[in-house]
Amino acid sequence: MRYAIFGDIHANLEALTAVLDFCKKQGVDKYLCLGDIVGYGANPEECCTLVREMKIPVVAGNHDWAVCGKLSIEFFNTYAKQAVYWTRDAISEENMQFLKDLPLIQEVNEEITLVHGSLNFPDLFDYIQTSQDARLSLEKLHTRVCFLGHSHVPVTFFSGPMVSYSMSYEINLKGFEKALVNVGSVGQPRDENPKSSFAIYDSDKEQVKIHRVEYDIETAGRKILDAGLPEILAERLKYGR
Ligand code: ZN
Repeated sequence: MRYAIFGDIHANLEALTAVLDFCKKQGVDKYLCLGDIVGYGANPEECCTLVREMKIPVVAGNHDWAVCGKLSIEFFNTYAKQAVYWTRDAISEENMQFLKDLPLIQEVNEEITLVHGSLNFPDLFDYIQTSQDARLSLEKLHTRVCFLGHSHVPVTFFSGPMVSYSMSYEINLKGFEKALVNVGSVGQPRDENPKSSFAIYDSDKEQVKIHRVEYDIETAGRKILDAGLPEILAERLKYGR
């Protein structure tokens, strides 16, 4: 079975359609979404509708829950806050309800778990940045592999006597009991590579590949400016920051 796992779309329709087109050509069997469908970009309504109509497992991101009022935006930065207010006016009742109904964690099957931030306190939307952070989530993981997002930087952590990590784009799960795979971000990469980032997991080969796909950054950026969203949200897309 080949799974495409994608998230942190952030209302970037150009990026989302480029990723889905790529996956179609790759012969993906199943799609899984890691949340943050909205926030920052100019097409939250379109991105929500697209993902909702795919009828796939989706977990809630902090921006999804912020927009529908389930998460306080007290600790969001100024730009993120502005984007939340703008997004609330830009999406339909139906998509607002869709965001509200998203769960924090999904165990898709005996192999795969999805979460946006971390497994130890999923509602706090912590970042997994160190081996210690990873260990806390690995202890809570009941399946072989957990896919996650949130930091917008692809990285994999492996269980073992010492938790190890890899920034490789080709990840072999053989020989590891459990792993946490951060697939990076579709709509706002932050690892200085502006191309959309997501994963394809081949469960027969026990292999995960991180893919990077080009998309029309200029159009996505122009839409952000036209919408009156903060200029920095358009600018950062060009640099992958
Ligand atoms: Zn995000």
